[in-house]
Amino acid sequence: MDQFKGERIVNENVTKVLDNHQLLHYEFTNVEKTLESIHGDAFRKYRERWNAASALKEIPKAPLYVVFETNSYCNMKCKMCTRNFFTTEEKVNISDEIVDRIISQCQEHNIPSIFVGASAECLIHPDIKKILGKMKSTDTLDCFLMTNGYNLTEDIANYLIDIQFERVYVSLDAAQDATYKKIRGATGTGGRESEPPAGAEKVA
Ligand code: SF4
Repeated sequence: MDQFKGERIVNENVTKVLDNHQLLHYEFTNVEKTLESIHGDAFRKYRERWNAASALKEIPKAPLYVVFETNSYCNMKCKMCTRNFFTTEEKVNISDEIVDRIISQCQEHNIPSIFVGASAECLIHPDIKKILGKMKSTDTLDCFLMTNGYNLTEDIANYLIDIQFERVYVSLDAAQDATYKKIRGATGTGGRESEPPAGAEKVA
């Protein structure tokens, strides 16, 4: 399965050519160093535990990371998405009650990291700001979200900055309009394909 191995590249290695021409992760700045300077020792220890768990040298009593889905639906229709195989089109938003329960369990078990929006577009949940704010009200050290960027408005970007949400990943999927349309499909794009998300520059 070597052909599916990606590599994490941090800024100083930009000229490196990967043998398999696959890149999973690229950072313009070393985010972990930045977050360590904000959260201090607690962040460093969490990353050490993360690396130990990834190498199967430590089995944590509680998860180091929780994947949090806020809604069941997306505003795009990408060709490669597992959503294409979902058997229901029902649009479900996570309720306040379940959000509160998950957040309180994360707090109780001292979960250091929460990831929002792995399999759906989280920024289309009508109460997303409230949900993200609740996440940041816990002792979690590393909150991050994934978005296709369509709803990354200036207002949302400012909010994420205000609450100091640690990481925002914007999936672009294409460098040119034609490829973008081909990959993401017409649904939900509303003719804005060539415009960058309004808030992307702010959170970068
Ligand atoms: S934006 Fe993400 S979740 Fe939505 S269809 Fe595309 S790949 Fe799937």
